[in-house]
Amino acid sequence: MKILFVSSEVFPLMKTGGLADVSGSLPAALSALGHDVRILMPAYPEAISAAETPNALSLRQAGSQLTLLSTRLPGTTVPLWLLDAPASFGRFGNPYLAPNGAPWPDNAERFALLARVAVDLTQDRLGLGWKPDVVHCNDWQTGLIPPLLSDEPNRPAVVFTVHNLAYQGLFPYETFQRLALPPRLWKMEALEFYGQLSFIKGGLVFADRINTVSPSYAEEIQTPEFGCGLDGLLRSRKSCLSGILNGIDDVAWNPATDPYLPAPYGPDTLERKKVNRTALRQRYGLPDDPEVAVLGMVGRMVEQKGVDLLIDILDDLLQLPVQLVVLGSGDKEFERCFERAAAACPERIAVTIGYDEPLAHLIEAGADIFLMPSRFEPCGLNQLYSQRYGTVPIVRKVGGLADTVEDATPERLAAGQASGIVFEPAKPAFLLEAVYRALALYREPEVWRAVCKCGMAKDFSWRKSASRYVGLYREALAGMNAGCSIADPRCAA
Ligand code: ADP
Repeated sequence: MKILFVSSEVFPLMKTGGLADVSGSLPAALSALGHDVRILMPAYPEAISAAETPNALSLRQAGSQLTLLSTRLPGTTVPLWLLDAPASFGRFGNPYLAPNGAPWPDNAERFALLARVAVDLTQDRLGLGWKPDVVHCNDWQTGLIPPLLSDEPNRPAVVFTVHNLAYQGLFPYETFQRLALPPRLWKMEALEFYGQLSFIKGGLVFADRINTVSPSYAEEIQTPEFGCGLDGLLRSRKSCLSGILNGIDDVAWNPATDPYLPAPYGPDTLERKKVNRTALRQRYGLPDDPEVAVLGMVGRMVEQKGVDLLIDILDDLLQLPVQLVVLGSGDKEFERCFERAAAACPERIAVTIGYDEPLAHLIEAGADIFLMPSRFEPCGLNQLYSQRYGTVPIVRKVGGLADTVEDATPERLAAGQASGIVFEPAKPAFLLEAVYRALALYREPEVWRAVCKCGMAKDFSWRKSASRYVGLYREALAGMNAGCSIADPRCAA
């Protein structure tokens, strides 16, 4: 199958979160299954620098000149095109936000351009001699591709993956006009969302198949609690909606070969994990006390991640034999809370505000317990990494966290099937109780070791999930022929 994979971030060229990890590893897994997959992403300056020998292709598009930089996804043979439009993408830093933390004012134009080029690629209007059977779109930044393709007589099948429904790409009506989108798209059954232009609706309405990144999240987003106002639409597309768990890049995230670790280790050399814990503590000047457990957290500091729940229990944590190491950035108020706590208690709490890939690896390896108290979590990757690294995750029972962590109930502990601690209500007291439970297990080294090893033994590779995506592409091709898109009158009922 020929697959065009379009994403606004692809690791290691640009990353703000899990979307980049998926975009950097799923295409390689599809390629390993024998498919001809190619990636299209914007040419941010960092991406150009990180790309291996990019080769400029100057192309003519709708009367104007366009440059694609042709390269490979680093470390693989997967072809990758960088859309080189300096006025739109030639900006350092976060790809969506200006340095003041606000969205770039021309985000709609930037990602409409990405969509238009993707559509031209699928029609081989750029003369590259390649036409995909399937276009795989990811999140709102690619949301205009499915509706624009719906005008093409010979379009490929379209799959749209929701990595996070909370980010929808909403813009005022004037933007819809400015983008000169076909007027027929301005209706509730297309791109209009309560008087605004919604990019994500383009994917949800017009794709042949929609999926999210875990089975639980696929169910949750059909409810008002998690549906972000789109649950009705998603329920109407239920027959085309599924959940496929994300895999991980098991080469980059392998504790036995991880170049960022002072002491790589595996399930049979788990005691070496402590060397990494010592290194992590040394980095922050935390005392190296074997009785004290290190709690780690890495991620965006936003309400979604339950950061406020952790902030609420900081005083309680100080009564326990634990140290806390936090890495992340996001909400300025949350950042300040952690900075204040670390300044007040430098021997117990350490924080790094910012983005630091090597440090994320060291925390995954050096912490004993990993915290992910998310309010919602489409899939979540850090709990997968932490299980692989023998670091016991504490997670909320929601979305992909519920699908990937087995709570340490007495039954599961007895059966050797417990891989973490799962709590349910999004309240500080329940998170604290989960920490108590984890520490009770931590005090029993044999039990603890078994929980660590259970997580390490799990297969979180892309093998299974990549095959599921191939199945989804086949369904999309079949569904397209059967007219299974709600934009198609045959499916509108
Ligand atoms: P989300 O995509 O919602 O941000 P995920 O758990 O799916 O959350 O993926 C987050 C990815 O980004 C993980 O690979 C995580 O290690 C990484 N990450 C998040 N914040 C940071 C940070 N401050 N420094 C380094 N890596 C980070």
